[in-house]
Amino acid sequence: MTLEGKRVIVVGMGRSGQAASKLLKAKGAEVLVTDMRPEGEVAAAKGELEALGIEVKAGGYDPDVFKGVSLVVLSPGVDPKEALWQGLREEGIEVVGELELASWWVSEPIIAVTGTNGKSTTTSLIGHLLRMAGKRIFVGGNIGAPLSEYVLDGERADLLVLEVSSFQLETIRGFRPHISVFLNISQDHLDRHRDFREYLLAKARIFENQREDDFAVLNRDDPRIWGLIPGIRARPIPFSRMKTQEGVFVDGDSIRWSLSGEEGEISLGGLPLMGPHNLENIMASLAVALICGVGREGIEEALRSFEPLPHRLQFVGEFRGVSFYDDSKATNPDATLRALEAFSRPVVLIAGGLNKGLDLGVLREGADRLRAIVTMGESASRLEEVLGKEVPAVRACSMDDAVRKAFLLARPGDIVLLSPACASFDMFRDYKHRGEAFQEAVRRLKG
Ligand code: ADP
Repeated sequence: MTLEGKRVIVVGMGRSGQAASKLLKAKGAEVLVTDMRPEGEVAAAKGELEALGIEVKAGGYDPDVFKGVSLVVLSPGVDPKEALWQGLREEGIEVVGELELASWWVSEPIIAVTGTNGKSTTTSLIGHLLRMAGKRIFVGGNIGAPLSEYVLDGERADLLVLEVSSFQLETIRGFRPHISVFLNISQDHLDRHRDFREYLLAKARIFENQREDDFAVLNRDDPRIWGLIPGIRARPIPFSRMKTQEGVFVDGDSIRWSLSGEEGEISLGGLPLMGPHNLENIMASLAVALICGVGREGIEEALRSFEPLPHRLQFVGEFRGVSFYDDSKATNPDATLRALEAFSRPVVLIAGGLNKGLDLGVLREGADRLRAIVTMGESASRLEEVLGKEVPAVRACSMDDAVRKAFLLARPGDIVLLSPACASFDMFRDYKHRGEAFQEAVRRLKG
């Protein structure tokens, strides 16, 4: 689509909305960007965009502004199923997301990673493996820089590694990764997706535009993901902890692979990421690196030099025999269950926050690993209902209080784990702020 002189509206002025606006402007479009937030909250961005000749409308919009536009770009936070956008589509107006938009100017091969959990870890690890193999790599999308920033920046990479969320995939049209990775699926974002099936199908759109010469790296152990194959044109490459035959898999103390007639293995000892879930992330990343032609020696060395991301099962310190781990990024129950699986010692779990419409009852599956639970935030009483009969449950009013109470409940050798199973916005700015508060509280406890 040529955008020269066309009227385009960008809805949402977060980092991706701002990047999309700048990209559209650079492509010659006449751009209006809108946001529901009041003027005062978006003042800095507003000034910057206006200086570029982009019109900014804060504090909501009149639906009439969309009359006669050529294109509407929705931010991931905006639900494309709302009647307003459906109506525009029926009028023949194109409504897409920032990922789709930016992809129109990308000709380099794209590696895209989706799943409920582990996207950032896997995207970063793939980027690391390929960089160490000497390739010029851009890592971004749903983490770090949006794809529009890459397009605008002008510096070229050999390959792009993108984290993509279900919200971004809901608004694609032609987005086509050369390699798609679907890590796992469990309940999340049911405040936005009508039901689990809709969430699964949004994620499955990652394969929609792939062709026979593309690759789909899929979790062989989840029948809902593996079951997508009949609808996929790309060549499926499985990774598995359970099945030892093809693709990348666990065999005894090794990760082995059998891919396009090539076989190899590396030992599980000394890997930089803990827990079975991270083994899956590692296998998916290995599959991508192998498809991209990285050799075994290079992979093994690169893998061992990867530094885990903060707030994902991050070791924070030890005090009187108790080890503290920050898994603040666990914003759904499955991530918390996976974190519990990573430890062989009893865990005092700090959990709770803003529940996204998810069934916290599944946390009972992890009860046998718990010494006790310390609850906080809006979902505290629900967590007490779910786990209070199985293990001691104590309420905390702040992160400092939670860390102190957890420490008192722990015995030497135990783990204190922050893995909330919920979003952070009831008490914190975001998961990073929550994780930092935890780490600070641990430091204070030690001091
Ligand atoms: P995302 O970008 O999908 O949110 P992250 O890598 O940031 O993924 O990890 C989010 C949370 O999920 C962390 O708590 C992490 O420990 C957990 N996690 C990471 N990988 C997996 C996985 N493969 N399965 C389940 N949970 C995982």
